[in-house]
Amino acid sequence: MNIINLVNKQIRNASKIVNIDKNVLKVIEKPKHLISFNFPVKLQNGNIEILSGHRIQHNNILGPYKGGIRFHPNVSLHECSSLASWMTFKCALQEIPYGGGKGGLAIDPSKYNEEDLENISRGFSRKLYNYIGSNKDIPAPDLGTNSQIMDWMCDEYNKIGVKRHDLGVFTGKSLNYGGSLGRKEATGRGVALSVLEWSRINKIDLNHKTFIIQGIGNVGYHASKILSSYGMKMISVGDHTGYIRNMDGLDISDVLNHVDNYKTLENYNEEKITKDDFFSTKCDIIIPAAMELQITEKEASNVECSLIVEAANGPIDNKADVILKERKITVIPDILANSGGVLVSYFEWLQNQTNEYLEEDEINHKLEKKMNKTIHKVFNVSKQYHCTLREASYIIALQKLENTYKSRGILS
Ligand code: NAD
Repeated sequence: MNIINLVNKQIRNASKIVNIDKNVLKVIEKPKHLISFNFPVKLQNGNIEILSGHRIQHNNILGPYKGGIRFHPNVSLHECSSLASWMTFKCALQEIPYGGGKGGLAIDPSKYNEEDLENISRGFSRKLYNYIGSNKDIPAPDLGTNSQIMDWMCDEYNKIGVKRHDLGVFTGKSLNYGGSLGRKEATGRGVALSVLEWSRINKIDLNHKTFIIQGIGNVGYHASKILSSYGMKMISVGDHTGYIRNMDGLDISDVLNHVDNYKTLENYNEEKITKDDFFSTKCDIIIPAAMELQITEKEASNVECSLIVEAANGPIDNKADVILKERKITVIPDILANSGGVLVSYFEWLQNQTNEYLEEDEINHKLEKKMNKTIHKVFNVSKQYHCTLREASYIIALQKLENTYKSRGILS
């Protein structure tokens, strides 16, 4: 299954329930701009490498294109295209004035030293220069990128010759470069808030409930830390180097310390298990926080949990989604669960425009208020139409897009 089919199927499933205008669907199923380029970078060892980059601008009816930049060997135009569509729906669902975009470079960032990564990031930003801007297209970090990379890209963009220093062109920057307090933790915090609200709605006590998490990078790290502060127990975790498990509960601070020091779980002293063992671990909640298409038919048939929270984008394929629905396992979908990142990116962008910077507790409070409001809306729509939370999230997002197109007289 490729992820273009995944996102289009998700759109069609929801549009069958509420009958969305066919012309709106036609427009939304295709990205507006597909930008691809190759560029040379001279590495510290003297070699020249030719890198291939992409930026997809999916839709901007609600505002400037918005979405991450990914550095990963699998990055392709197809992958960016689906990820950009999800951004359009995520922003529409959260009612923020952004469209959807996504981009990336097909590289493994762990293979480069810091100087090379800086040159690569700056080279990529030069290629993006004509397509981005704080009112045009606003990239942010994603898999394999971070605030340092955003700082380099933002700096390079501003060196090229904007009339005023444009900080809002990138979000997810470091605090020294106009970043927002709370942004680093925001996606993980949003994931944890989704779990908390789900437990409140269903009157479930989270204390001592167990979770397993795939991916302990930016999103997985902060999500697991916050979930543990609710009294939850992490019993298994994995990353690209492997999986570990302790049914009595892993020592979360110790695991996170290891990740702080070594960036991965490699060599962590605990029982090693396979990916299959990981997904069949009996627990209350599974949180995929790494890559797309990780839960397929096989995993969906084997999981033993009550809830799956999609911290990553697109971790569950269509067939698995059907199986999970049949098995009555609730899924909090990516466009809701991981939308905390783009919400705080929006707050960062607003702070850059006004030059008025908020305290961390103010940001966290705004994030919590917005997440909870949207979560309740999604749960109510799901009840109203007897549909899944994914279908409900798409219904809300599609209706927002449809109403915007109609009110502007476009496509009529
Ligand atoms: P990251 O690069 O910081 O971390 C990725 C984690 O996934 C690492 O622990 C890595 O080892 C692990 N991983 C990678 N490939 C794997 C594999 N094949 N098997 C198991 N583990 C693997 O990335 P991140 O920013 O935490 O993003 C994770 C996911 O969340 C992605 O799907 C991303 O699109 C999504 N997301 C991120 C943000 C954000 O603000 N960073 C926002 C919304 C959604």
